Amino acid sequence: MGEVPDPERSPETVIEGCAIATMDAAGSEYASGHVAISGGRIISVGPGPAPGAAAGASRIDGGGCLATPGLVNCHHHLYQWLTRGLAQEAGLFGWLRALYPLWAHLDEGLESAAAGAGLAMLARSGCSTTTDHHYVWAHEGGDFLRVEIEAAQAAGLRFHPCRGSMDLGVSGGGLPPDEVVEERDTILIRTEEAIAKWHDPSPGSMLQIAIGPCSPFSVTRQLMTESADLGRAKGVRLHTHLAETTDEESYCLERFGVRPVQYLDELGWLGDDVWLAHCIHLSPDEVARFGATGTGVAHCPSSNARLGAGIAPVAGLLEAGAPVGLGVDGAASNEAGELEPEMKQSLLLARLRGGPGALTARRALSLATIGGARCLGRATDIGSLEAGKQGDVALWRMDDLGGAGIADPVAALALGPARRVDTLLVAGRRIVEDGRLVTLDEARVALELGRASRRLAGAGP
Ligand SMILES: [Zn+2]
Repeated sequence: MGEVPDPERSPETVIEGCAIATMDAAGSEYASGHVAISGGRIISVGPGPAPGAAAGASRIDGGGCLATPGLVNCHHHLYQWLTRGLAQEAGLFGWLRALYPLWAHLDEGLESAAAGAGLAMLARSGCSTTTDHHYVWAHEGGDFLRVEIEAAQAAGLRFHPCRGSMDLGVSGGGLPPDEVVEERDTILIRTEEAIAKWHDPSPGSMLQIAIGPCSPFSVTRQLMTESADLGRAKGVRLHTHLAETTDEESYCLERFGVRPVQYLDELGWLGDDVWLAHCIHLSPDEVARFGATGTGVAHCPSSNARLGAGIAPVAGLLEAGAPVGLGVDGAASNEAGELEPEMKQSLLLARLRGGPGALTARRALSLATIGGARCLGRATDIGSLEAGKQGDVALWRMDDLGGAGIADPVAALALGPARRVDTLLVAGRRIVEDGRLVTLDEARVALELGRASRRLAGAGP
């Protein structure tokens, strides 16, 4: 966690009078307490008013609110904001085949509009840290990674983009059309360049790069292996999609002679520096293997339900000790892209699979916070409200129609109606205030998204 902040130091920002769910290891909660922040980090959390707050401190009245850690989104494709509402009844492979031809026309202007919209929706739903997985590199399309990094900097969110990739097109036996895949050498060179240019491994980092070859059916075995070698040489994390559908399982059995998890295991792709999206179709032995290797899972309940892909064994993964976080996934496969409602979706799906005791409200909140931080290798500096951690705080109104009178504010988040965050701080900076984005103009973002989506639709086949 680095040096412990001086507790005598006067806080710059103080939130007082709120209920608090810290999500620390002891599960500490306070019916009415404070969070004090200085230099972007939390210096005090506890019951009652903040100690030592000077008159000049910026004060946030938390009365009627619940404070939680800022939420952490572990899986996304920001560019997909441009193609919502399409292929509505398709399963994954049919949905991808319908959308790849449109995605082949991405350019920097389109990507910028999509990233602005996606990040705005995440911020309003309480998300302070997000990843992105950009794997469609339209030829001559531009530098999408730079564009989305600039969008995250403008939004003020902590960002973990993956330099994604595909090198296995239809002509080589893969699913995507050849015009959206790249050469393997180009991918590895560009990925290494991105790490050198952008990756900041320091505590409190606002920007970390991961390596994200897309999936077993769009990436060669060589690229998977060389991506893992590069990640380990550079000390960056690895991310890909896995075990999302039975179609993928059949593909792996037919092409590689093994199930998806064994395929990744053979390639050195299970480990505590890896987190994988979906992981729905796992055997009990495979669940245990995730726990033994410390491989993280980005659970995307709305997307999985929308595509009819299945229900991930979240309770089993948690019991096995695997890190599990939540992901909204791309907005083309859920049309929403809000993180707060994914807590409820995860809870409901877990109970449909495993009964009423399968996932508690607090466990759902932990997936959205410290569980996500573990997936991204950030459990030491984000994901819970503790002295020394980053000042990433979400404040949720509990005195509105959706929350008033409820016996347990955490249940209001995990079981109640979907809600916007009232206040969102990232490293102590206000990103959302009184339910409104401070860093972005929401109306302008919506206008640009509409224009961009229409332009891309017009470019399609
Ligand atoms: Zn995905």
